[in-house]
Amino acid sequence: MRTPIIAGNWKMNKTISEGVAFVNEVKGKTEGNAEVLICAPFTLLKDLKEATKGTNIKIGAQNMHYENSGAFTGEVAPSNLVELGIDYVIIGHSERREYFNETDETCNKKVLKAIEVGINPILCCGETLEERESGKTLDKVENQIVKGLADVKSEDLEKVVIAYEPIWAIGTGKTATSEQANEVISEIRKVVKGMYGDLAEKVRIQYGGSVKPSNVAEIMGQSDIDGALVGGASLNPTDFLGLLKF
Ligand code: PEP
Repeated sequence: MRTPIIAGNWKMNKTISEGVAFVNEVKGKTEGNAEVLICAPFTLLKDLKEATKGTNIKIGAQNMHYENSGAFTGEVAPSNLVELGIDYVIIGHSERREYFNETDETCNKKVLKAIEVGINPILCCGETLEERESGKTLDKVENQIVKGLADVKSEDLEKVVIAYEPIWAIGTGKTATSEQANEVISEIRKVVKGMYGDLAEKVRIQYGGSVKPSNVAEIMGQSDIDGALVGGASLNPTDFLGLLKF
């Protein structure tokens, strides 16, 4: 059985004190069947690690560089995250692909580096509305997964979480129907199966795109969906706790 994973993606939101206050409010109320994760801006990570000590809340980053160190002004090294005891890192979120020119190749380098340093990568994929409407969803997502997982060793596959996030459903209030999400996610699992055989059954695949407390149970009730990556609804403690009730 795959352990469901509910992850908040705070994006570029919250100060350190707001983040710590959030954790203090949800502390002690997050125990359950799901692995619970908050992916926060870099400057909050140290304080959030401290604030979540003794809880089941894990802390993740939203990006990292694929080189160990060097002349990469403004970037954050994998070792900086390791030093803080960061558990997960989101790789290739559509906003990073769109606004920061991330490619399948750089995402793949980051996935490999995250595994190398002992941080679990959450590899994002998903199609635009135009791609969906022109019937290109599966090709797009398959390509992102095949390229994103290139050279990941079989023994490391389980460390990778995949997040299927149709771009048209992110932050728009438009959720893919749970059937639409499940259909693509089961195709993604077939792609991973083509690469790794039965090990694909161990990979957790999340859905992301306007998930909220009112639709999380239906989404999580689908056969192939193992969790959610949530932006907007993860920012408010009440909604965040609501995401864990499915
Ligand atoms: C996201 O940022 O990954 C996301 C899915 O955002 P939202 O839940 O706001 O659509």
